[in-house]
Amino acid sequence: MMTHQECINCRSKYAVDEVVYFCKKCGDLLEIKYDYAELVKMLGKSDWEKVPLSVWRYKDFMPINDFSKIVSLNEGGTGLHQCLRLGKQLGLRRLYVKNEGENPTGSFKDRGMTVGVTKAVELGAKSVICASTGNTSASLAAYAAKAGLRCAVLIPSGKIAYGKLSQAMIYGAQVLQVRGNFDEALDIVLKLSEKHRNIYLLNSINPFRIEGQKSLAYELCDQLEEEVPDRVVVPVGNAGNISAIWKGFTEFRELGFIGNLPRMTGIQAVGSAPIAQAIKSGSDKIVPVEKPETIATAIRIGAPVSWKKAVNAIRNSGGTAETVTDEEILAAQKLLARVEGIFVEPASASSIAGLIKLVNNGVIGKDESVVCVTTGHGLKDPDTAVKMSEKPVEVDAEIAAIEDALGLKRQVAILER
Ligand SMILES: [Zn+2]
Repeated sequence: MMTHQECINCRSKYAVDEVVYFCKKCGDLLEIKYDYAELVKMLGKSDWEKVPLSVWRYKDFMPINDFSKIVSLNEGGTGLHQCLRLGKQLGLRRLYVKNEGENPTGSFKDRGMTVGVTKAVELGAKSVICASTGNTSASLAAYAAKAGLRCAVLIPSGKIAYGKLSQAMIYGAQVLQVRGNFDEALDIVLKLSEKHRNIYLLNSINPFRIEGQKSLAYELCDQLEEEVPDRVVVPVGNAGNISAIWKGFTEFRELGFIGNLPRMTGIQAVGSAPIAQAIKSGSDKIVPVEKPETIATAIRIGAPVSWKKAVNAIRNSGGTAETVTDEEILAAQKLLARVEGIFVEPASASSIAGLIKLVNNGVIGKDESVVCVTTGHGLKDPDTAVKMSEKPVEVDAEIAAIEDALGLKRQVAILER
């Protein structure tokens, strides 16, 4: 039962159907508030627990008034993979990967977009817009297509993973490559949506989008049968996801479904780590990175818009933040693919790289149960995967040549008999 939107800083309240992205009094972010007593009553009459694992299993927990308007591509319900081989290598008994690459457009963004675009339809919007390093644009373009909305996406200059670009294009979005970085592109879409009130903004500052992403925490609780993991490790770019997941856990505790909460642990790339720096230095502010650099393009963000929510989530949960190098990210990507059969994009692998680092330096205890969130599918960025793998060997179409190439001993006797 949603009641209103509320500023995370000065607690100013806004109506649920007011299109507002920042607090008008202090400029801070907004979040959606609920009447949990009402929600409990509603859940008593709902058959939500019979619905298969998905974002809309939790529709009673979502800020939507008219369920007939839901725009869905069957998002959520992603696999929670117990990683026995990787866990053994690291000395962890209970290690899981929540693989968000299994969503319809191949990233966690679909959880937010299904709710955000449904909200856009409810509000009567005709066009939607976002700034994106790739995954957001791919997801928004797909949901806009499904809803019949006009969609524009602004991507920063520099290298964008090819898989993501191809998605935004084929779903029919107007794709503009802006000469500037992500933070500049975001600034422009913010101003545009202020100026043209009929364009609905769906970056992660949109509090309705964050509501969809909190379903990941609900799913984890349900997949682990209410046994909350000790720690959840999340790649951090614009910082909306770690904030959303934390909100999901706190709500499930508020509702009495779970007793304890996990330590939220955020991982950033060394060249783009303002939140990790703030956590490490104990600062209440971030120092934006002017020219963020990392091979993990999905988290190449110098001024994360949801930094305050993320810092709060990490501190309030007793978690931590860590940085990893591009080399550590790529090594973790390869390792996860080769020992667990899970192919993720580089940004996703940062959670694995961070886990390895934090286990090795003793911050994560070996008796902890840990869930690493991998945010996007490996095919989003095939170039990087090909570049760091062994090249295919060219051989003649002859058994002998292939045996040589595979290092097999020739067994002439059986063939000749
Ligand atoms: Zn405020």
